Amino acid sequence: MMQYCFHKGQIKPSTEATLSLASHCIQYGTSVFGGMRGYFKNGQATLFRMKDHHQRLINAAKIFGWDYHISFDNFSKIIHELVQKNNPDTDFYIRPFIYSDSEVLTPCFHKLEYDMGIYMIPLGDYLDTSKGLRLMISSYQKFPDSSISTKAKASGAYLHSSAARSEANNRGYDEALVMDVNWKIVEGSAENLIMVYGGEVIIPPLASDALEGISIRSAIQILKDKNIPIRYEYIDRSMAYTCDELLLTGTAANILYGESVDDRIISKEMGPICKMLRQEFEQIINNNHPRSSDWITQIKINK
Ligand code: PMP
Repeated sequence: MMQYCFHKGQIKPSTEATLSLASHCIQYGTSVFGGMRGYFKNGQATLFRMKDHHQRLINAAKIFGWDYHISFDNFSKIIHELVQKNNPDTDFYIRPFIYSDSEVLTPCFHKLEYDMGIYMIPLGDYLDTSKGLRLMISSYQKFPDSSISTKAKASGAYLHSSAARSEANNRGYDEALVMDVNWKIVEGSAENLIMVYGGEVIIPPLASDALEGISIRSAIQILKDKNIPIRYEYIDRSMAYTCDELLLTGTAANILYGESVDDRIISKEMGPICKMLRQEFEQIINNNHPRSSDWITQIKINK
């Protein structure tokens, strides 16, 4: 964790941000979080789609009916100050979250107070971007949105991602693909899915029980800008075994491709859609793309 964080309305040394053991967020997972990448280059930090990350975080609190709001302007001001104070010299990751540290025993939302915290960590590759991933279909089905919102990044709900990721890693795979309660593959443990099948791009529909990822939304826009048609359809096991390309997209993971699913080889090499999307994302981050001005925020670092 980097030296400074945001806690109880102020930027302070991370060691001074403490929480009660009886906090509702610790006992019941009462927290919703975001995750933003920061890219460090030439004395400058570049953040990707901060506005969208803010909106998703606010929406998550709204979905659960929590009484907390912060305007984008205030959020952006805090992020700017925190990044400058932490003075990064590597790529990093920013984790803002809205949580309750109320010491209330009842599992409920209405008796609680909510606040926002933010911390930062240095972050290189989350998964190995230099090769294709060995994927397995998890035995842990994704919970439905009718049970716990799948559009909110709800801390407690990440027990599911953790179970799926550990199951995959403990069996020698890099990452898990998860099925919904109807046995359709909807996402990875912390990534969305793009499939190329029979030459067509297929993406699970928005109302599938996947998180609405900011990376996949960006990839969809890039595909649209290039007039590449997209079909929004559910993906089954057989499609995953026989597709042309299977891509995973996520803030931490970036854009990765599956080499195999349950040991059925998909492709030993990066396919053309993955290659194109990676190049476009790199240009966007480097402020060298028509979408850059809308999607990136640059913060000067004082070395
Ligand atoms: N699905 C899940 C379950 C995730 O945790 C993430 C990571 N936030 C994603 C998809 C990808 O979302 P994003 O592109 O916004 O990082």
